[in-house]
Amino acid sequence: MLRMKTLHLLQAHVSCWSAVRQNFHQLASIKHVCLLSERRRQGLLYPFSALEEHLTPQVDQTEFKIFHPSLNDLCRAETLFTPSHKKHIDYTTSAVRMDHVPALKQPEVCFMGRSNVGKSSLIQALFSLAPDVDVRVSKTPGHTRKLNFFTVGKAFALVDMPGYGHRAPQDFVEMVEPYLQERQNLVRTFLLVDSGAGLQRSDLVAVEMLEEFNLPYVLVVTKIDRTRQGALLSLMVQLQNFIKKQTSTCFPQPFLVSSVQFSGIHLLRCFIVHVTGNLQLTAEPT
Ligand code: GDP
Repeated sequence: MLRMKTLHLLQAHVSCWSAVRQNFHQLASIKHVCLLSERRRQGLLYPFSALEEHLTPQVDQTEFKIFHPSLNDLCRAETLFTPSHKKHIDYTTSAVRMDHVPALKQPEVCFMGRSNVGKSSLIQALFSLAPDVDVRVSKTPGHTRKLNFFTVGKAFALVDMPGYGHRAPQDFVEMVEPYLQERQNLVRTFLLVDSGAGLQRSDLVAVEMLEEFNLPYVLVVTKIDRTRQGALLSLMVQLQNFIKKQTSTCFPQPFLVSSVQFSGIHLLRCFIVHVTGNLQLTAEPT
């Protein structure tokens, strides 16, 4: 249950909320999510909650909720993703090779996945409170694929890795491997998996690299609005088994997101802020 006091405070703030700008998703801020019914709010903030009632008792549910911050923590994380005069959220630069990669001091997270997995849409959703940030900077088809760097003040940096396709894992490996191997400030990699396709052979190339370099990573299941609950549930169980049996540095809990409906975005923001050392979770019940 959400704490009523926090909820009322948030609802009171909504009236002060400035006009919704064009690039803003209407649910980009928790203030707006809190106006929804309890069921929809829970489903948006904690997408796994919509699935758990259908799980059989044999499946270990706790592994799906290891990271389960309070509403208050989600709100604190949102502040980090909101630009201010002291904290700029910007696209910084792009790099094709390791010697073009900027020297940044902030802890860094990177996002990777097959082309079309929904990576740009997800990064755009994460940054939707900073609508001037253009996530699609170098996405023109046919252009050299690059690593794109975004900075959130001094708090952290986020890297959008080139998408890989079934025909081009080799290009991807050549570009990404040195980054993964050498980047000292990289604290977490987010590996995106399309909910409609599940883990593909090319994803296993990425998994192999992350495991080989002993890097912590997380699976993020995208486009969940497109997939039926039953199929999503089997995918989650399948991913849980995969993580348990075939990985050693993967976080046990896969994250569920929809950039269209904005589900799971607030939770993912909170996880990023947490793993980059910008947020200690409070013990407040949700
Ligand atoms: P990228 O190549 O990984 O950067 O993928 P994009 O973000 O460009 O998305 C690829 C396609 O999937 C586009 O047509 C998006 O509109 C669509 N898409 C991305 N995220 C979602 C989502 O959460 N739900 C749905 N239904 N479509 C999505």
